[in-house]
Amino acid sequence: MMKSINLLVLTITVLLTACVPKVVSSDPEPVLGQLKVGFDIDDTILFSRDNFLKAPHMSDDPDHLDYGWVNQHDSLYSVTIQPIAELIGFLRAHGHEVYFITARPGINGDAVARHLTRELGFDITLNENLFFAPKRKDAVSGHKFTTKHIRISELGLHIFYGDADNDMVAASVAGVRGVRVVRDARSVEAYSKNYFGNTRSANEPKAPYSEDDYQKFLSYGVGPYGETIYPIYFVEPAVAD
Ligand SMILES: [Mg+2]
Repeated sequence: MMKSINLLVLTITVLLTACVPKVVSSDPEPVLGQLKVGFDIDDTILFSRDNFLKAPHMSDDPDHLDYGWVNQHDSLYSVTIQPIAELIGFLRAHGHEVYFITARPGINGDAVARHLTRELGFDITLNENLFFAPKRKDAVSGHKFTTKHIRISELGLHIFYGDADNDMVAASVAGVRGVRVVRDARSVEAYSKNYFGNTRSANEPKAPYSEDDYQKFLSYGVGPYGETIYPIYFVEPAVAD
């Protein structure tokens, strides 16, 4: 008797399930166990110091570069940071998704997508897995601030890797784990701002950390925002003369 009731319940369940229309959603369901991992570009996946140093300036403001030019010249002047390329390969091999979010302005951004596609060997497409999120300036305070957290939240990332203080702030505001990638020493020399305050400036409240403090952060693997420091140091590939 019990067996036949069980069979009846099972039969009804199967019939009802078959009658439920399939719901087609434009948003793919999150895949259980799959991480969505974000990466900054400059000094995270690309050592792009020379691209920035060679870029034409649009005004006397040293930060006002021709980003349309920069975005088209990674193939000539930027070097892929191999430990990060390997990390990306490792994540993808385990089925995780990888995204790039840069604070560069997006003029000619498709050239960056093409360059990263060639370098990393998988399709990187503008506004699908590569996003430009330039800093904004508050009209009242005059402060520049990162907008990367907006994209990190929209994409539902779980981890964000970047070299700059702003990357750690963006991850924190978005509520995801920020992991600090160690900036190449030559980039620290060329661009010391926005990196552990500014370890090369005179000691002041805005930049309290010296080179010695920086080495302590690296040795303990924890940065000033409490973030993990990714402990791989970029070694320049040997170049034949
Ligand atoms: Mg960077």
